[in-house]
Amino acid sequence: MADVLSIINPATEALIQEIPADDGAAVAEKYARARRAQPGWAALPLGDRVKSILRFRELLVEQVDTLAALLTSETGKPITQARNEILAVPVRIDFFVENAAKVLAPERVYSEPAAALPGMGMLEEVIGYDPLGVVANISAWNYPYFVGGNVFIPALLMGNAVLYKPSELAALTGDAIASLLHESGIPQDIFIPVVGAGLTGAALLEQPIDGIFFTGSYATGQKIAVAAAPKLIRTQLELGGKDPAYVGAAANVAVAAAGLADGAFYNNGQSCCAVERIYVHTDVYEEFLDVFMETVEGFNLGDPTDPATYLGPVSRKPQLDILADQVADAIAKGATLHCGGQRVDRRGWYFAPTVLTEVNHTMTVMQEESFGPVIGIQRVASDGEAIALMQDTPYGLTAAVYGTDRERAVGILSQLKTGSAYWNCCDRVSPRLPWSGRGHSGLGTTLSLAGLYTFLQPRAWHLRAG
Ligand code: NAD
Repeated sequence: MADVLSIINPATEALIQEIPADDGAAVAEKYARARRAQPGWAALPLGDRVKSILRFRELLVEQVDTLAALLTSETGKPITQARNEILAVPVRIDFFVENAAKVLAPERVYSEPAAALPGMGMLEEVIGYDPLGVVANISAWNYPYFVGGNVFIPALLMGNAVLYKPSELAALTGDAIASLLHESGIPQDIFIPVVGAGLTGAALLEQPIDGIFFTGSYATGQKIAVAAAPKLIRTQLELGGKDPAYVGAAANVAVAAAGLADGAFYNNGQSCCAVERIYVHTDVYEEFLDVFMETVEGFNLGDPTDPATYLGPVSRKPQLDILADQVADAIAKGATLHCGGQRVDRRGWYFAPTVLTEVNHTMTVMQEESFGPVIGIQRVASDGEAIALMQDTPYGLTAAVYGTDRERAVGILSQLKTGSAYWNCCDRVSPRLPWSGRGHSGLGTTLSLAGLYTFLQPRAWHLRAG
């Protein structure tokens, strides 16, 4: 097992820090600490747990500058987007806190008067909720505050202990999150960071945990599912996507083009719900492409620490080759390259924003997750053709339709197997709505009330007065 993680700044390629990774013995020791501490945490009044989470909320806002700078240094995320991410967490915390008591409250669902026979008093049926216990959260690097927070905040509120393994590409941010939670009053043994890459994650899954909450790629998600299966534990997998958008003949083209350019390129396209494929009705195709290209050409690529920067480097060096291969494959099969297509000639892992047209589904760019600043735009002749193409994927995270007719858009979106459906918007997440994927995009739900219940197990109480 690698014993050291090397944290590299993607914008400068400089080594930021080397940190020791947890081996199997260290992971087992952390698990044992969490197991011992969890019952005491669950026994606290909810108000005590809420107090710590609200303090965490305050600290996030107070320390946003330092936290954003750290996130930018290790992932290359433009500083403005790093700040946006951190400052959006309080909205999610508010939702969880507002609903925690309601979700935890025992629910009396039936009562029956006493029978005449002795010992047959009144019967009550009550649903109670217990925390799962000790849960593991193995997280991704692209939005560590969002994807981690969607798990560890409700998990802690519901009375669980959390073993949190941030991605090796956001390990310093993971450590900062742990420090803030501890400073907020969450006990050291209730939220425990586990440091390392895949092997450390695998060691975590060897522990007798009560739930695994994973965010990452489909390939790793499959391994997690296999490792978790014999344990018969709650298993949630938030995985990748190849999210389509369709611009219909009656769309407001300017709104669609500007919105979809942002949906495709925000965070350098490294969002699970980034727009990854665009289909445009032939009636508005030229107009759409003009505005789309104008928007993309206006994006500011540069130093991610500059607040004016919209596109920074990609966070993972190997992704540069994956993107170049997708572009080469598309061009070899007849695609037209409008901009980008290669690395930017400067230090750092920069890939130029890339727009391809004349694409089709024989090309990997329209089939496999790009997870970078590359987008294919395909012309279609009808809604039916767009639906068939949007359906042509094993993924099912989100889909978007642009057009003025709500019923028509809803009709199209209903035919797609996706966890989220957008009309005249895209790349959007709400704490009030369930976040889930279908097919290869995953299993289970975070956010919404379902995202609180998922950290609990119900108990059926049959209570008859004697
Ligand atoms: P990844 O699968 O490479 O890694 C995710 C995590 O799994 C990391 O912490 C990694 O160390 C760990 N890991 C790797 N191998 C493991 C193993 N064998 N056992 C246990 N843990 C292991 O993914 P990534 O590059 O960090 O994230 C990008 C992917 O995440 C993209 O596909 C993206 O779409 C997806 N994602 C999905 C959502 C969502 O909500 N659906 C959100 C963000 C990211």
